[in-house]
Amino acid sequence: APLPAPRRIKALSQDVVNKIAAGEIIVAPVHALKELVENAVDAGSTALEVVVKDGGLKFLQITDNGHGIDKEDLSILCERFTTSKLKAFEDLSSIGTYGFRGEALASISHIAHLSVTTRTKESSCAWRAHYADGKLASAKPGQSAEPKPIAGRPGTQITVEDLFYNIPSRRRAFRSASEEYAKILELVGKYAVHCSGVSFSCKKQGDSTIGVSVPMSAGTVDRIRQIHGSSVASELVNFKAENVRWGFKCQAWISNANYISKRTTLLLFINHRAVESATIKKAVEQTYATFLPKGGHPFIYLSLDIDPQRVDVNVHPTKREVHFLNEDEIIAIICDEMCDSLSKVDTSRSFMTQS
Ligand code: ADP
Ligand code: MG
Repeated sequence: APLPAPRRIKALSQDVVNKIAAGEIIVAPVHALKELVENAVDAGSTALEVVVKDGGLKFLQITDNGHGIDKEDLSILCERFTTSKLKAFEDLSSIGTYGFRGEALASISHIAHLSVTTRTKESSCAWRAHYADGKLASAKPGQSAEPKPIAGRPGTQITVEDLFYNIPSRRRAFRSASEEYAKILELVGKYAVHCSGVSFSCKKQGDSTIGVSVPMSAGTVDRIRQIHGSSVASELVNFKAENVRWGFKCQAWISNANYISKRTTLLLFINHRAVESATIKKAVEQTYATFLPKGGHPFIYLSLDIDPQRVDVNVHPTKREVHFLNEDEIIAIICDEMCDSLSKVDTSRSFMTQS
């Protein structure tokens, strides 16, 4: 049979490209929420409320009391690479916060119905705007897309509805709303432990039971108790470590040898962003192996501040994977410190049983 004629190569439309890119950054509702939580924290909020419907696929709303967004900025808010956190390329390496790429809101607007209500301290009213595909959009056909003045308190409320409405294959891939909700609770719980001085709540829309609830005044141990229970909160030790040469500082609350869990809980923050690290998890589990019975696992909350110039967060747009210089040296110092504090608890315990 004759070979079929080659098909001509064509460029995808910008619209399709935007949708694909957004779908890569935001794979599940929890990824959208992470960006929104980080934005709220970056805005200096001390109170943060999350409301969820259908695991965040139908409705995801976050309300904060942070500095708000200027009305003048609303027209470019959801354009790609618009940010108030980065001005030049050099800032990429010296910025303290790293939700700085100006991509999150743009991405969400390409794959969901996005609306923003915001008020700054200086403004006499709040402004509400709707977005579609990176631009201001009208709420209903025939209406103006211009932001509308409404009554409201200072701060920002972001509502994401019908996530993946225009990517049916992705939408169908979600089998269980409760699985997505569990991921959301886990994420909000992580930030609730980490962000001292900030109150958190997370619940399902129209549900009186609250998934996460932490008051502003709660200290770290109380935060861990609220989220992870008293059995772990009453068996915690903390330590600090730092090293000028490797440019890092860390703070940790970890379970002692009296606490034995079936699996490891690792709340890991690097420069105040929740991240995953298989390397750190493995090192920590090895450290605990000498303190816990076989099959027993610890709880670890570890907050690591690394000189931003030594952290590479741009490995992937999702920023979930972070690499930093001298990883091995830094992890070794942390695990040494961890070992020390665990041994101290161990000796005090055997001392107590002797007396
Ligand atoms: P980035 O966080 O990387 O700057 P985003 O797309 O997440 O990019 O947000 C764009 C900009 O919108 C931020 O730089 C910030 O100025 C503003 N913004 C977003 N969310 C909030 C919020 N909750 N409160 C105040 N400003 C916000
Ligand atoms: Mg952001």
